[in-house]
Amino acid sequence: MKQGKKILSLLLMLTLLLSMSVCAFAEDDTEAVIVMETEEEPAAQKLAVKCVDAEGKTLRDEEADYLDLSKDLTVDDKYARPEIENYTYSKTMLEDEELTKLSITHDAEGKAVITATFGEGEDAKEKTLSGSETILFVYEKKSDAPHTHVYDAGTVTKEPTCTEKGVKTFTCSCGDSYTEEIPALGHDWNEPGYSWAEDGSACTASRSCKRDASHTESESAKPVETVTKEPTCTEKGEKTLSANFENSAFAAQTKTVEIPALGHDYAHGRCKRCDGIDPNFRPKLTDTTNGRANWGSDYVATCDALKKDVQKVLVDGTELPASDYSVSEKDGSAVITIKGSAVKKLKVGSHKLTVVCATGTAEKTLNVSDKPKTGDADMSLWVGLLSLSALGSAAAFVTMKKKFSAR
Ligand SMILES: [Zn+2]
Ligand SMILES: [Zn+2]
Ligand SMILES: [Zn+2]
Repeated sequence: MKQGKKILSLLLMLTLLLSMSVCAFAEDDTEAVIVMETEEEPAAQKLAVKCVDAEGKTLRDEEADYLDLSKDLTVDDKYARPEIENYTYSKTMLEDEELTKLSITHDAEGKAVITATFGEGEDAKEKTLSGSETILFVYEKKSDAPHTHVYDAGTVTKEPTCTEKGVKTFTCSCGDSYTEEIPALGHDWNEPGYSWAEDGSACTASRSCKRDASHTESESAKPVETVTKEPTCTEKGEKTLSANFENSAFAAQTKTVEIPALGHDYAHGRCKRCDGIDPNFRPKLTDTTNGRANWGSDYVATCDALKKDVQKVLVDGTELPASDYSVSEKDGSAVITIKGSAVKKLKVGSHKLTVVCATGTAEKTLNVSDKPKTGDADMSLWVGLLSLSALGSAAAFVTMKKKFSAR
């Protein structure tokens, strides 16, 4: 029973305390009791402060510092405002008003009571702070403080090109600057193009830069030829041209090209290559005697057809028997020799000599000369012949004599 009474009285006390604080808020919100977020833990009470220069620029890296509210202090306490290199503390501000004093005291329950004083003497005003304010410690730069350059993010003062470096300049507010190289961009090539010389003697690869069309690169390669089909006298052939480039940016190129038909190479009525007959060939007969055949002597004529093409020899339309003539070859032409015995059989006078060849027919007028007569202009010949026979007789006599003496 006693235990229950105790608990009940405790609850009553708590209720009373709660209603009292609510009342305090309601009565006067300007002079409100500071409700610290740190009520349960007085050691964690803090007031935001910021160290700035005359222009309001933050001098410390941190967004804000905090004053330790666990200690009593006044604004001129040194530990409350940090030392900043090259700066001297000048004043403490709160919402554009200079504080002449900032004091932190603690009440009976240990809660921090922050009091700001503005002005001095009779005009002095005091204000109790809630703790949500930010106190500014204003610093002034020492006149002899060395200048530390603070450079900007840099601006491109010379744009780099494909082949030339650019320049980036970093500037400090004092005017000092330094530069950094921007590497050359390198060309930004378009896809290469290829072109073959009309006659296939070369293949040229070239490409231009996307940034500047005047930046070009080209290479001419001499192709390697591979004949894939040999041409003949009458049919076209084919060959493949392969071009390879030193510059690895250029791909190997191939091209198939026709080889024109060779055309016939005629001589003596036939093609030297394919043996085809020259349709325009007309064989001719020539001799060295101006068409005269001496009666009883071999007659020699040259026919410019090939020996193998000579088929028959006719005199006045009558074919000569093979035994009457022979065919030999000289410099590709057929040499026809009509034997003296055959010439003998011909009447003195004009005859038509015809040589029929596989490649055409040749004709020539042949004049058979008269039989030589004794006492003619050819007397000397006869004298010669006579002396030869005389010699012959003498030789025969000597031989006979030898034969007899040998017995
Ligand atoms: Zn500077
Ligand atoms: Zn370029
Ligand atoms: Zn041919």
